[in-house]
Amino acid sequence: MADRDVDLFVIGGGSGGVRAARIAAGYGARVLVAEEYRVGGTCVIRGCVPKKLFVYASHVQQEIEDAAGFGWSIPQATFDWPTLIANKDKEIARLEAAYTANLDRAGADIVKARAVFEDPHTLALSNGERVRARHVLIAVGAAPNHGVEIPGIEHVISSNEVFHLEKQPKRILIQGGGYIALEFACIFAGLGTDVTLVYRGDNILRGFDDDVRAHVRKEMEQAGITILTGCTLTAVSKHGEEFTSQLSNGSSVASDQVMFAIGRHPNVANLGLEKVGVAINPKNGGVAVDGFSQSSVPHIYAIGDVTHRLNLTPVAIREGHAFADSVFGNKPTRVDHADVPTAVFSQPEVGAVGLTEEQARAQLARVDIYKADFKPLKATLSGRQTRMLMKLIVDADTDRVVGCHIVGDEAGELIQVVGIAVKMKATKADFDATMALHPTAAEELVTMRTPSARYVRGVAAE
Ligand code: NDP
Repeated sequence: MADRDVDLFVIGGGSGGVRAARIAAGYGARVLVAEEYRVGGTCVIRGCVPKKLFVYASHVQQEIEDAAGFGWSIPQATFDWPTLIANKDKEIARLEAAYTANLDRAGADIVKARAVFEDPHTLALSNGERVRARHVLIAVGAAPNHGVEIPGIEHVISSNEVFHLEKQPKRILIQGGGYIALEFACIFAGLGTDVTLVYRGDNILRGFDDDVRAHVRKEMEQAGITILTGCTLTAVSKHGEEFTSQLSNGSSVASDQVMFAIGRHPNVANLGLEKVGVAINPKNGGVAVDGFSQSSVPHIYAIGDVTHRLNLTPVAIREGHAFADSVFGNKPTRVDHADVPTAVFSQPEVGAVGLTEEQARAQLARVDIYKADFKPLKATLSGRQTRMLMKLIVDADTDRVVGCHIVGDEAGELIQVVGIAVKMKATKADFDATMALHPTAAEELVTMRTPSARYVRGVAAE
């Protein structure tokens, strides 16, 4: 006998699960959300939100340095890590309360417990309760990878721990070349930590446009970050407060913290999925789902990072909303995963939407590339050695802008807006017909008149 019956049981109170729960409750469903840790999930508790607060903190040093060229003399500024941590914790607690209140207002219940399938319609909770559910939504997210078991792996922190360090490290070694590694390398460098980044491939940000990758690397190196490519960590040893990391190229690096940011894996273990027949996608290890987020068991759905499709918060939220509309709102809705804008909050920031140059050349018959690489106006007086990159990828047969890549201040803000134009299938002529707004960096997007390169069937053309 179950202790209660619900129409929807949501496993996981992250951004996607909470959205699904609220919308389903709005359609009149009896909804219960189980969350074993904190309501808000990775994004709110130990991801996007606290990370962006850290990014703001780390920008201050640059602003102070840049101020001199504008006539300001600012006395020696000091930074206090515990204050940043405490203020961040306060904001995260406020957000967690807001998420909880929103669920409550929507009429969904929350239980702070871990849930495991007992049978396809019954969930056993770690508080001893048993719940019978008509539908189940798996929205349990993902967790940091640790890689192969190297000696001293117990000394290595991930993005889970980095938000709670008691002391700011004077030196940090970060392994990885993706979103999290770059964001934290730049955060720490901005706060005055000496940063070494170790990446296994030949250049960071694999999957992004090659010009973006080269530009970001150069800027990060100019900012004093040491980037070691073509190697991995093979062992970490601890001596008092200090760590020594051995690298596969035979060298070693001393630091006060060692962090891995080498990808994340879907949290599919220990949920009882095998028992109830929920299939795992062999290609990515996530819950296998169709376009409606339906799993191999018809009344069980999965959304967000646990499906390992596009691991971004707004995507999980859309998937959660679409699930609730489809199953409880009688509005079958598929999520469109094409042309999703994305940003890496490194310094400089990266914003990207659509195809890279490489992808376009492989997929399209004729491709025009427009590129601007320039010194931003602010850098003239600040004297900062920095350049901004803007790149448009155009399908020369249709004139459609199929990709946009930006590196520089506010690239995330810019790409959100450019994303609308790309989604609307705007052409290069539409961009050109838009009046420039002077003086901005973004005006470059509507004033690039001559292609910097043209390709026909992937080959450079005149
Ligand atoms: P990413 O997939 O972005 O990057 C993982 C990095 O680790 C890659 O450089 C990868 O190398 C490297 N790597 C993978 N396995 C190993 C290994 N065994 N040894 C050494 N290096 C390895 O993952 P992150 O952890 O940075 O972030 C996870 C996801 O979270 C992101 O992909 C993104 O979807 C999301 N996210 C989004 C953010 C945003 O929107 N701003 C911010 C943070 C996270 P290689 O390239 O060679 O495979």
